[in-house]
Amino acid sequence: MTDLVGCIAPEKLEEYRNVFVYLENRNGKISRGALEMLGKGKEISVKLNEKVVGIAIGQDLKAVADEAASFGCDLILGAELSDFNGFSSVAYTNIISDFIFEQKPNIFLISGSREGRDLVSRIAVKCKTGVAADCIELDGDPTNRLLIAWRPSFGDKTIDQILCRKHRPQMITSRPGSYKLPEKVEKPDCETRIKKVKVGKLVAKHKILEFKPKTRLDLTSSKIIVSGGLGIGGPKGFEPIRKLAKELEGEVGASRPVVDLGWIPYEHQVGQTGQTVRPKLYIAAGISGKIQHIVGMKASETIIAINTDPDAPIVKYSDYFINADAGKAVAKLADEIRKYKKAHLVEADSEQTA
Ligand SMILES: Cc1cc2nc3c(=O)[nH]c(=O)nc-3n(C[C@H](O)[C@H](O)[C@H](O)COP(=O)(O)OP(=O)(O)OC[C@H]3O[C@@H](n4cnc5c(N)ncnc54)[C@H](O)[C@@H]3O)c2cc1C
Repeated sequence: MTDLVGCIAPEKLEEYRNVFVYLENRNGKISRGALEMLGKGKEISVKLNEKVVGIAIGQDLKAVADEAASFGCDLILGAELSDFNGFSSVAYTNIISDFIFEQKPNIFLISGSREGRDLVSRIAVKCKTGVAADCIELDGDPTNRLLIAWRPSFGDKTIDQILCRKHRPQMITSRPGSYKLPEKVEKPDCETRIKKVKVGKLVAKHKILEFKPKTRLDLTSSKIIVSGGLGIGGPKGFEPIRKLAKELEGEVGASRPVVDLGWIPYEHQVGQTGQTVRPKLYIAAGISGKIQHIVGMKASETIIAINTDPDAPIVKYSDYFINADAGKAVAKLADEIRKYKKAHLVEADSEQTA
C-alpha cells in the first residue's frame, strides 16, 4: 500500500485512543448529522473498548454538553468562544487541530454537512492524515483498533471499504440522514471540560450581518415521503402525489430527472445528489430505482413501489409493490385514506360524545 502523500504516519499508533465526534451546534442544539455521528461513534467506541469524546465549539456549550451526554457521550471537550458567535473555518480548524494534537484520537467522525465538509479537509491537512468522505456505513475492528468505512465510488457502481492503517486520527464524513438517530441513555455518565477561548485576530475579517435559518425543505427528518419520478408523466403528475402526502401528513420527494426538467424544485430531490432520507414510509411512484436514487432512500423502514414495470430495479428494494399506473394508483390511495380517516374520525367523535 502506498503512503498518503503529505501525511505523516505516527510511530506509536497505540498512543492514539478514543473515538472523537465533532458536535456541530447552533443556539445550544446539536445538528442532526452530528447526533447520527455520535450514535455511530458510541457503537464503535464500545466495540473498541474506547471512549466516545465530543468536541464542541461555540457558545451556550452547557446545553450542547447536556444533550451529548444524554446520547451517551463519555467526555466532552468544549471551546466556549467569548468573543465570536458564528462559524469560522480557520478558527475552528485551529481549535480542533489543537484538541487532536493534545488528545491523540484514534478515530474522528464529522458529519458531512457544509460546515463539516469545510472543516474536515483543513483539519486532515493540518494533522497530516487522510479522510474518507461521504461514507455510508461504519464499523470498528477491535483486533486492530481500526475504523472500517464503506463509501460508494465510480458513480455508485462499487462500494469500497476504506481502512486507514497507518495514519491518525482515522477521519471520515457521512452525509446527514445516513444513519438512525441514537437512543437516549438512561443514566448519562459524562465528564465535561469546557475552556474559554478567544479567536480575536483569526476572525478579524468576519462580519456576521444576520443569521438566516435554513428555509429549505428538510426531508431528512420526514416520517413519510411520497416521491414521484419520470413515470408520473409530467408536472401535473405531482398533484395526486401532493394530495397523498397531505393525507398521510408527509412530504413530497422526487427523483433527479424530474427536478432537472423543472417539474419540482431541487429541495425535493432524493438521492446521491439530493437528500438522504430514512422515513418510516417511502412511496416511490414512477421511479425506476437507479442506484443514485436508491442510496438516498434505501434505509427507509417500509418502501412501497408503484410502477408499470414489474422488473424495475426499485421492486427488489421494496416491501410492497403496486403494479399499476402511478397517477391512478396514487389518486386511489389518497382517496381511500381520506375515506378511512373520515370514517374513523366520525367513529372516534361519536364514541367521545356517547
Ligand atoms: C452523478 C449522478 C448523480 C445522480 N443523482 C441522482 C439523485 O440524487 N437522485 C435521483 O433520483 N437520480 C440521480 N441520478 C439519476 C439516476 O441515474 C436516474 O437517472 C434517475 O434516478 C432515474 O429517475 P426516474 O426513476 O424518475 O426515471 P426512469 O429511470 O426513467 O424511470 C421511470 C420509471 O417509471 C416507470 N413508469 C413509466 N410510466 C409509468 C406509469 N404510468 N406509472 C408507473 N410507472 C411508470 C418506468 O417503468 C420506470 O421504472 C444521478 C445520476 C448521476 C450520473
